[in-house]
Order: sequence, then C-alpha cells, then structure tokens
Amino acid sequence: MRASALAAFLFLSFGACRSGPAPATTNPIPSRQPIVLITIDTLRADRLGSYGSTRGLTPSLDAFAREATRFTAAVSQVPLTLPSHATILTGLHPAHHGIRTNDGFRLAATVPTLAEQLKAAGYRTGAFIGGYPLRASSGLARGFDRYDDEFLASLDATERSADEVMRSAALWIDANRSQPFFAWIHLFDPHSPYAPPAPFSAAHRDAPYDGEVAYTDAAVGRFLDRLRQPSLSLPVTIVIVADHGESLGEHGERTHGTFLYDATIRVPLLIKLPPVRLKPDPTYGRSTDGKTVGRTDGGRVVDVPVETADLAPTIAALAGTTLTRSDGQSLLPLIAGATGDPDRPAYAESFYQNVLLGWSPLRAVRTRQWKYIEAPRPELYDLEHDPHELQSGLNERAALASGLQRALTSLDAADRSKDDARAAATSESFERLRSLGYASGSTVPTPATRAIDPKDRAAVWAEIEDGIDLTARDPASAGQKFGRALQLQPDNGLALKYLADLRFRAGRLREAREGYRRAIAAGFRHPDAYVNLASIAEREGHLDQAREALTSAVELASSDADAWNRLGLLESRRNEVDAARRAFTRAIAVAGDRPEPYYNLGLIERRGGNETAAQARLQDAITRNPNYAEARYELGTGYLIARQPERALEAYRAALASRPDYAEALFGAARAELDLGKNDDARRDYERFVKVAPKEYRRQIAAAQAAIKRIKN
Ligand SMILES: [Zn+2]
Repeated sequence: MRASALAAFLFLSFGACRSGPAPATTNPIPSRQPIVLITIDTLRADRLGSYGSTRGLTPSLDAFAREATRFTAAVSQVPLTLPSHATILTGLHPAHHGIRTNDGFRLAATVPTLAEQLKAAGYRTGAFIGGYPLRASSGLARGFDRYDDEFLASLDATERSADEVMRSAALWIDANRSQPFFAWIHLFDPHSPYAPPAPFSAAHRDAPYDGEVAYTDAAVGRFLDRLRQPSLSLPVTIVIVADHGESLGEHGERTHGTFLYDATIRVPLLIKLPPVRLKPDPTYGRSTDGKTVGRTDGGRVVDVPVETADLAPTIAALAGTTLTRSDGQSLLPLIAGATGDPDRPAYAESFYQNVLLGWSPLRAVRTRQWKYIEAPRPELYDLEHDPHELQSGLNERAALASGLQRALTSLDAADRSKDDARAAATSESFERLRSLGYASGSTVPTPATRAIDPKDRAAVWAEIEDGIDLTARDPASAGQKFGRALQLQPDNGLALKYLADLRFRAGRLREAREGYRRAIAAGFRHPDAYVNLASIAEREGHLDQAREALTSAVELASSDADAWNRLGLLESRRNEVDAARRAFTRAIAVAGDRPEPYYNLGLIERRGGNETAAQARLQDAITRNPNYAEARYELGTGYLIARQPERALEAYRAALASRPDYAEALFGAARAELDLGKNDDARRDYERFVKVAPKEYRRQIAAAQAAIKRIKN
C-alpha cells in the first residue's frame, strides 16, 4: 500500500510537466527538508476566501492556497484546543492520546509524539506557542528542542499576538536553517475574547472575530513573505491548519467545544510542498536549466474527507521517517493526485460536558456528503444539501445512519473509559482557563446525567459560558447568569460551584459553603470547592472539618501543590508535625519549583528541633525565589539563636532589601548589630522599627525604646 502510494506520488508530480520518466538523479520527494506547521486556533473554514468567504478577510491565506493543496473536508477530531493539538502532534485519536478536554489532562509520557520522532530522525524541533491551553506542562513539549511558552511566566498572561509568536519563530528558524528543522507555530488570536488590534478593531467593529481573523491573516502574510525572501529562500514545506472552528451562535453555541457541527469540526487545511529543483539534464530539452519547475500540486483541491490526525504521519513521511503508532494516514498520495475515498468516515468527538457535567458525550463520523452524530438523540445530515446542518434526516435514512454508526463503533473500538493521562492541574491554571472562557472540574456521571443530550441543554450551557466570561469584570451579572442556568437545571453542579465561588470571593461565606455542598452533592467534584470549604471551616475554627475538605481536595487532584501546601499549614496548626511534613513534601514532589512548601517545611523542621534541616529548606526556598523576604528573615533568626550575628545580619539585610518596612527583620537586624557592637546602626534600625511596627507589637516596641535609650546613654 505504502509503496504504491509512493509510486503514484512520483508519477503524478512529474507527469504534467515533463514527458518520459523523471531523471533518476532527481528525488522529487522533498525529503528531509524543513517543515513549518502553522496551527491557527479557532479559525472557521468559511472565513477564508479560498473556502468561499466573500468578506475579504484573508488575502494572504488565499494567495497561499493558490500555491498549495487545499482540503475542503478536513475534520478536527475534537473541537477543543489541547486535545485537538494533541491529535495533530501525535497522529492519534483522543481515546489513544488520552486528552479529552483542556483541563485536568496531560499527555502521558508513554504516548509517542511527532516531535520526538522527527528529533530522532535528525531534525531540530521548535514550538512557538500563542495561548495558555498549550503550556509546556500539558505534555506537548516532549520532543521539542525549544518550546517557547515563556510569555506565560507572567502569572496573568493567557495569550500573545501572532506577530510576537512569529518573531520568536523567525529568530529560531534563522539560527537553525543550516539543518533540517520542524517549526510548529501556534497562533491564538481568533480565540475568544475577540479583541483585534488596530486597524482591524475599527475595520471590524461589528464583527471582532472577523477582525482577529483578518489580523492573523496579515501576520501570516508577513511571516510567509519573510520565508520567501530570496536571501532567506528555503525549500520549505508549509502546513496551515486550524485546531477547530467557532460556532458564533450557530445551534445555540457561542464558541466551541460542545457540538460537532461543521462550524467547529470542519477546518481549513492547506499544504504546500517546496518546489522541486531539477538538475540540468541534457536528455530533456526544456526546464533543465536549473530553474525551479513548478509543482503540479499548486491550487489542487482535495474534497475527500481527511483528519487532522493525518498530519503527523504526513509530516513524518516528509521527514523520511514513520510514526510508531498512528490513527491517521499520510496525505502525500492525495497531494500527488490520488483520488481518495469520499466515504472515508472521519472521526470527531466531544467529551467537554461529559467531563464537566456528566452529560452524554458526543461522537460523530463525517464523510464527504454525510455526517452522523451519536447522541441520546442521534442526528444525520446531508452536507451537500444542508451544509448548516439544520434538518436531521435520520428517520428517512435509517439504513445509512446505521451504517455510519457501525463505522463509528469500529473507529472507537479503543477503551473509552481509559483515562491514565488524567492529572489535575493546579488552581492557578483554572483561573487562566476561565479567563479564556473555559470551564474546569469534573463530574461523576450518573445514570440521569449520562442520558442528557447536550443539545437539549444548549441554553443552560450558554448561561454558564456567559457567566464564566463575566466573572472577572462583572461578578453581579455573572451571578445572574449562573442563577438563570440553575433555574433551567436546578442540580447543575458547575453553575452551583461557580455561583459559590462568587459568594466566596464576596465574603458571603455561609452562602458559599451551602453552594459548594450542593455542587458536591450534585456530583460536581472540583478541588477548588474543597479548598474553599476548608478555608471557610478554618476561619470558623473547625479545624477537623477543614482537614477533611483538604484531604478530599488532594485525593481528587493529587498534583495540586496549593492544596497540599494548605493541608500542611493546617496540620501544622493542629500541631500534627509529621502529617504537616508529609503534606509539604508532597507539595514539593508535584511542584518542585515553588518556594512556599520549602519555606513551610523549614519552619516545621525548626519546630521539631532540627535546625540544620530547617536552614537547608529555607535556603531551598530562597534558591527558588531570591526575593523571598520571610525565608531570609527566618534564616537570620536561626543564625541569631546560634550566636552567629554576622550571618544573621546579612540575612536580615537581604530580607529588608526585598521589603524595606519589614518590622520583624528591622528588630532582628538591630539585635544582631547590638551583638556586633554596631550601636549607631542598631539605634537607627530600632527607631525605624518603632515607626513601622504594628500596634500589637507593644512588648517589642517597649523593648526597642528601652534599647534606644540605653544606646544614647
Ligand atoms: Zn483551540
């Protein structure tokens, strides 16, 4: 099969421009040449001129499409950023790579990746990320020599512009152009919130999504121009694809993730192989002067169904290697002109509401003409006559539907309950995902929820999505949205939990507790709910209740460092030194870059009388955050007690460099200075301490004043 496809490719690449066989000295397969993969997030196919749009948003992509092979029935396997990219970068369906939604999953170390395979084949590999869902900790970074998501180091950053991503990618390409390379560039701009930069904001005031598309197109154009510059000219393969589209209100869905209609699962896909340079060959009279001969693939249209899972095997083939496992198939024969199969069932799924709310998952197969969606109320669409999927023809065409359902079942023979890759993220990531409009958490499906068809709850979901969007900037309106969702479905755990979050942040703790309890009773289990229940119980002095809630949080999300750290602090408060030590150690095990657990462990060691261990852990904390004033202060105190005033003073000074009005450090510094006979310095620090110390330090303030008096005499 592979050999014959290759033969077809060889023949068709040359058949149109030359007569006779290709010269044996020429290898028409652009083997081991550079490959650039551009994934444009949330780009609807029908916004591109080459896919029929008359809006004029995409002149650059349209010019590119004229030189490329354009696929009109490319299907994304899942309309969510992280799982879709996992498919693009592994060639595997979600059941096999294990990532079902953006939150709580990471790519397991046992899943082979395209980048690893290319690296093993001698390629340099670079990834340039535009948005938070594809952060390195998602697991997608494996196999990349460089994974540039560094802009996310700023804790409230969620995305960066296409031009910024491209700038970073271009620098890396320049540095690596002397060898085969694979650059993956992720552009996040069309993803919500829609806020195109000027002049696109003004030009598309009434359609900001279109403005984002137009801006992204312009940025892609600038990047492609750069690659085409004669001085930089590289024989590069360029693949441009979207991870999914955007519903923009169709079928009651505002963004993406829930449904499997073409608005989100049919994606633009353009592939341009490099022109082939023919060597001078006296046997043939023309096109043999060393000039580039145009390929025959420019402007080709492939209308048979293909999957985004096909991209990894295609790219691997271009690099002269093959993937160890793949659910896709190389597209090179189609690019070379093979006819393909219009009835190939391309797969798509959504487990978003299944994971969040326990509702039924949706799965679909799409051929060139038909789409079958498996749901509690299944659907069948004739895409040729009903491209917007408004009229399900299931009843009229039962035999066709059951044939497609069988195809779906055989595609999905893999174990669906397998979720080894699942690993909860930290609460920090929940905030950032929420700012992009994603919900997080998970529900245990019950027989009742499993029967819920997401299309019968589109209105509930719309209210929740609006509420999530409003949470940061308008909590009152967000509360109304969640309230309305609960009027439509009173036991909706997600809405209960988000409403409780709003109450918690507003300090309405009793209502918050009631809300969290109801959410949990409804089956919605989220570490945040337990962590916040714990902090309410702790504030009320119910330490045992708090401990129980935190224990539930870490059982649910064993990689939640924040929850482990809080559990450690609580055990410490309960004087359970060993339990506290265990909890802090777990926090360190799951997030070794965070300084707080080391600091807390240091204080626990000190309480246990192990000063050497205490100082080592405080130093560990300082290594992770050199400006950690409290850790510097505690270190100073250890030295002071050990009668090492010089080292103590050094530590206190470092603490004060980060926090000049740090009262305790001023008091400690003055003590050390007295021990060292630096009386003037001691007096100055005592005076400053008296000025900044809070009133409850009455005893220390009196001691400082007495010391000042003594020094003066
Ligand atoms: Zn996406």
